[in-house]
Amino acid sequence: MDFRLTEEQEAFRRAVAGFVEAEILPIAEGVDGRGEFPLAVFRRLGELGYFGLRYPEAFGGVGADMVTYCLASEELARGSLAIAAAWAMQSLMGTHFVFKYGSEELRRRYLVPALRGEKIGTFALTEPGAGSDVAAISTFAERAGDGYVLRGTKTWVTSAPVADFLTVCAKTSKERGMESIALFLVDREMPGVTLGKRIEKLGIRGSETGEVHLEDVQVPPGHLLGGEGGGVEKVGTILSEIRVMTGALSLGVGRAAYEAALRYSRERVAFGKPIGQHQAIAFKLADMLTLLHTSTLLVYHAAWCLDQGRPATREAAMAKLVASEAANTIADEASRIYASYGFAMEYPVQRYFRDARFLLLGGGTSEILRLIIGRDLDRPPILGSA
Ligand SMILES: Cc1cc2nc3c(=O)[nH]c(=O)nc-3n(C[C@H](O)[C@H](O)[C@H](O)COP(=O)(O)OP(=O)(O)OC[C@H]3O[C@@H](n4cnc5c(N)ncnc54)[C@H](O)[C@@H]3O)c2cc1C
Repeated sequence: MDFRLTEEQEAFRRAVAGFVEAEILPIAEGVDGRGEFPLAVFRRLGELGYFGLRYPEAFGGVGADMVTYCLASEELARGSLAIAAAWAMQSLMGTHFVFKYGSEELRRRYLVPALRGEKIGTFALTEPGAGSDVAAISTFAERAGDGYVLRGTKTWVTSAPVADFLTVCAKTSKERGMESIALFLVDREMPGVTLGKRIEKLGIRGSETGEVHLEDVQVPPGHLLGGEGGGVEKVGTILSEIRVMTGALSLGVGRAAYEAALRYSRERVAFGKPIGQHQAIAFKLADMLTLLHTSTLLVYHAAWCLDQGRPATREAAMAKLVASEAANTIADEASRIYASYGFAMEYPVQRYFRDARFLLLGGGTSEILRLIIGRDLDRPPILGSA
């Protein structure tokens, strides 16, 4: 058993960490305060090739493994979860389906510029009346000649206010319901696509989120990604990646909160000694570090399972469940260690506390993750064989 990263992975982690120190940490508070999409740093992420980590070189990607992708996810989230969330959408869900099911023409028009950070892509499944319950979506794609006419409203769409294209989930048959859900590549410029309200959020405020209305949008046949139906299964094929990535984002936020609290516990003096020397605070830090350690093992083990082609649905759900809950507990405890200063907007601890709430939602709520884990209770947790 070897828990070490490879030299390439270590070097990559250092490179991303250096980028975070130099270009993300200095703007993280401003991005949060203004609640504004960080376009300049987004373009930089494209220049550096960070959107293409999971894609082949032929499209401008890097072809990195899932462990490496998680290292980027963790480091970026340590600097700013808002920026990391926008990066995650662009590097995974927002581009995955055009890569996997798009024609060469669509890949050239959308995927290649998106990996360079020149176009912004996103993924639209959630609707005002359907979140966890995917079968309840009502956006409908009606056949019209060769193509389709899309009608419906999507909400909670990451990057919607700035997106150039969206992968939209819509039903193609009233009778076949969920089975008929298909994926469509919708260009923001197509007539009938309009932006609805921009959602004001508690956390990850620099990752803009909004509604998209689709009113009689004519979509050409080539924009149907992967044929009619089977959309839920297609989304299912990357759900484990999404969950492991969200687990890695959670590690980043947890680490940022833990490191801030540790520093503060050594500086702040109460009753004649640094507060970290009071056992109650030292125990908090010990518990926070233990949670971080547990989450790190689960996330990177699940990433490794994906890289090895091992069963990972349950492992990914466990990793996301534990790491996202841990990030919230760690941010909460960090805030208690800062006491009143944890309540002040001047210190970043309040941002970790607010941002961490997102981790409980993206990639499935804790209840849904327990449902997934509960479907696979018989397989023992064997590390050595698949
Ligand atoms: C910042 C942010 C960005 C997002 N970005 C996107 C995006 O880009 N694209 C997109 O499509 N969506 C996006 N989402 C939406 C997100 O995926 C959904 O909000 C999430 O799936 C939960 O859906 P919901 O809020 O409708 O909750 P609901 O599904 O209504 O759930 C409400 C509560 O009921 C529980 N519940 C539901 N079903 C069950 C069950 N069977 N058993 C037990 N408990 C259950 C849930 O766990 C939750 O506690 C985003 C959300 C946020 C907050």
